[in-house]
Amino acid sequence: MQIFKFGGASVKDAQGVRNLADIVSSFGSKKVVVVVSAMGKTTNKLEELVKLAHAGLNYSEILNEIKQFHHDIAEDLSKELPKNYLKFEESLENTLNNLSEYDPMLAYDKVVPHGELMSTSLVEAYLKTQVGSEWFDARSAIRTDQYFTEANVDWVVTEKQVINLLKPVAEERVVVTQGFIGSDVEGNSTTLGREGSDYTGSILAYCLNADGFTVWKDVPGILNADPRILEGTEQYKKLSYREVTEMTYYGAQVIHPKTLKPIAQKSIPLIVRSFLDRKLEGTTISSDNTTKTIPCFVFKGNQLLVTAQVKDHSFMDEKKLGLILQVLDLLNIKINLMQNSALTFSFCIDYKEFKSKRIKELLNRDFILSFESELNLATIKNYTPDSFDKLPWDRTVIMEQKTINNYQVLYR
Ligand code: ASP
Ligand code: MG
Repeated sequence: MQIFKFGGASVKDAQGVRNLADIVSSFGSKKVVVVVSAMGKTTNKLEELVKLAHAGLNYSEILNEIKQFHHDIAEDLSKELPKNYLKFEESLENTLNNLSEYDPMLAYDKVVPHGELMSTSLVEAYLKTQVGSEWFDARSAIRTDQYFTEANVDWVVTEKQVINLLKPVAEERVVVTQGFIGSDVEGNSTTLGREGSDYTGSILAYCLNADGFTVWKDVPGILNADPRILEGTEQYKKLSYREVTEMTYYGAQVIHPKTLKPIAQKSIPLIVRSFLDRKLEGTTISSDNTTKTIPCFVFKGNQLLVTAQVKDHSFMDEKKLGLILQVLDLLNIKINLMQNSALTFSFCIDYKEFKSKRIKELLNRDFILSFESELNLATIKNYTPDSFDKLPWDRTVIMEQKTINNYQVLYR
């Protein structure tokens, strides 16, 4: 059994869907479960749509745009719109009425999954004409909590449901299902966080004891930096689960951060390869960590540096640090870089307006807070002496840290 994941870029037009079908067909007799994201930039559009609808504003323009985009692809692939697709289009329209009644996070999870539901309906309808395939509703298998927009998987229920509902179908024919979505105990749709389709693939690989999990992308494999930022990037042929987990921790957007753990637990190899050029081998991620890894560069913009200073002249001791960390945990904030001194604790996080407001509210009483935004963070993993030359020359360093393996610098 193989799990294939195709992201939005791979199905952004009819040609992409045909290419997907070609790839799946070329695996012939193998059992394949195909996990598909929303088409192109549909999720972004749905996010705009849900904002408007939730605020009670007119959303017809963006809704029509989303519908037209799917119709154009569907018409290019076949003469009529698949019934399954029309069902979800209708359900999207119905969901948008009275949306303001709901909490914004719940409203989001009622609307945004339609991107995946519509995309898989079109993809599967076409795939059916090429290979025997079946559409599967991921929400009937992936059970989550009610942490809407960033839901956590209930592994016990999910594993049971995948084995009982998905496995028998997948033994018979190619299955097409949605990435990114699940449902809670009451049957509400939930989402796993942006770019969560990789994670879905990994959950299914784990529960089905798959032999392999392939993520088909528009890049030849995992590169050691974002080629839009750095020149002369190199591709990894092999990486260990651990190495990739660390890369995602520092913000490398190679794969959804939660993807590695389930497949690593069962030693299921993950292959990242190009849907554009199938001759290329891609990058294989496995438990093998014998190869020496070249430096990896990660750049993150929009960073906020928060400095908390004690109000009296006592030290920034463990108790006070504990208090700050508790607040960050409560707000679900991840620290990207931190440093302490006698009287201060400074930490750098991804800037989000409402989170920085909450930090102020919760820590103002005990600390003098200062904020500096619009900073950049560069990380070099496995640095070598000459890798520092690749960092921007004109940077003003705000904070830096160096360990045996890694270098991080926050700069303006
Ligand atoms: N469609 C979702 C997103 O764009 C999930 C995914 O692509 O993995 O975030
Ligand atoms: Mg995507």
